[in-house]
Amino acid sequence: MTTFDFDLAVIGAGSGGVRAARIAASHGAKTAIVEESRVGGTCVIRGCVPKKLYVLASRFKDAFEDAQGFGWSLEHPPSFDWAQLVKAKEKEITRLEGLYRLNLEKSGVEVFSARGAVAGPQEVRLGDGRSLRAKHILVATGGAPWRPPGIPGIELAATSNEIFDLERFPRRLLVVGAGYIAVEFACLFQRLGAETRMVFRAETPLRGFDDDLRRRLAAAMEQSGVALVPGALPTGLRKTSGGIAASLTNGAELEVDAVLLAAGRRPSTSGLGLDTAGIALRPNGAVIVDAFQRSNAPSISAIGDVTDRINLTPVAIREGQAFADRLFGGKNVEVDYDFTPSAVFSTPELGTVGLSEAEALERCDAVAVYETAFRPMQATLSGRAEQVYMKLLVNEADDRVLGLHLLGREAAEMTQLAAIALKMGARKSDFDATMALHPTLAEELVTMRAPARRMRRNAA
Ligand SMILES: Cc1cc2nc3c(=O)[nH]c(=O)nc-3n(C[C@H](O)[C@H](O)[C@H](O)COP(=O)(O)OP(=O)(O)OC[C@H]3O[C@@H](n4cnc5c(N)ncnc54)[C@H](O)[C@@H]3O)c2cc1C
Repeated sequence: MTTFDFDLAVIGAGSGGVRAARIAASHGAKTAIVEESRVGGTCVIRGCVPKKLYVLASRFKDAFEDAQGFGWSLEHPPSFDWAQLVKAKEKEITRLEGLYRLNLEKSGVEVFSARGAVAGPQEVRLGDGRSLRAKHILVATGGAPWRPPGIPGIELAATSNEIFDLERFPRRLLVVGAGYIAVEFACLFQRLGAETRMVFRAETPLRGFDDDLRRRLAAAMEQSGVALVPGALPTGLRKTSGGIAASLTNGAELEVDAVLLAAGRRPSTSGLGLDTAGIALRPNGAVIVDAFQRSNAPSISAIGDVTDRINLTPVAIREGQAFADRLFGGKNVEVDYDFTPSAVFSTPELGTVGLSEAEALERCDAVAVYETAFRPMQATLSGRAEQVYMKLLVNEADDRVLGLHLLGREAAEMTQLAAIALKMGARKSDFDATMALHPTLAEELVTMRAPARRMRRNAA
């Protein structure tokens, strides 16, 4: 009879892996977790957390400017110290990393600091040559930035992994890409003082988000000073005495201090040995799993970004929890992905939950679109040309709110709360029946009376 060292071996101590390991251990499973880098994974070390800290840092610029409209005088113009921000960020993520490690240890999970690879359906081989035999293996290795091939000098570009720790603040920054990571970094570096240009293939950034939000955000970014260059990509990068020279497909040449390559991410499965266990992968390397996170091998499951479904931290955590509860806690929970809210921490910020207008019209015969755009109170005395935009999509057949899309201050916070209502199946009449809270931005969500337009499926 085979003897096992562990009931569960998790490869990857990021958001999903840590949650799965802790829950499995709490159900009494003997659990190992293998991490080749820092415990906490992308979100804590080089994703959501440092990103949000930098976004918050960047927004002080607007706050300093706005304060003057409210009676404050800034006798000395504020200045920004990049090295100090990097240091403070490092301190905070080290604190979080310590907490994650401590919580794993307190739960009884054994942590192996090594690279792990699957050596068979029930074996994980560590980089140092050791081997762990486990009844179950969970692949939670996340994803990594993708570098498009065939662009000479592309290795000179930083990805989101390196950008947080640039030795010197880039006075001139070229951002390549138009996804949420590109947009967030373009906005934050511009506010921190970088002359920022964003080049991308499409016409408008943020494919997949509601078109009205995309257009309005692009306009707001340009207004704040980010140069958007649609339809252009780099053809080559080269080192110069002053920085990096980038040539673009539109024929332009420019010199910058840094290039941020945000051209997408790919699941981290290369060299993971999944072929030895016969695991089915998608062409981009994502592990194919069913609704219960199971791969095609009975002893191997996968969660989070490595499965490339909804690549967000709370989703990876939910999947990790469901996996461990099912396998070791006797609870057959299927993760429910409907109404997963998401945000883009650009400035202005974007929040979205439910269907976009295009998706709503694919699914429903008639959709009422409620929208409003207004100047937030913070922008009145400061004189800032700033708008908040809100859109509700309502299925005319049953009055259900199908989608909510916000652009502006506090959009992410409002979206998280509204997501509860949408998830509960709120109707537009529930929004109407809810008393407004005044004066807030969110009150506008319950005071939109008449639809701005009514859309019919065949008129889309
Ligand atoms: C810049 C940026 C900003 C983001 N912002 C947000 C946000 O605001 N909100 C949000 O919800 N999500 C955000 N995300 C996405 C979020 O970080 C991921 O969805 C989440 O971290 C996925 O968790 P995971 O457990 O699947 O993988 P990860 O957190 O990536 O963890 C995988 C872990 O596996 C380790 N690993 C990989 N291969 C091996 C191996 N062979 N052996 C051992 N260890 C290995 C890695 O080192 C890593 O620690 C952001 C991502 C980025 C890059």
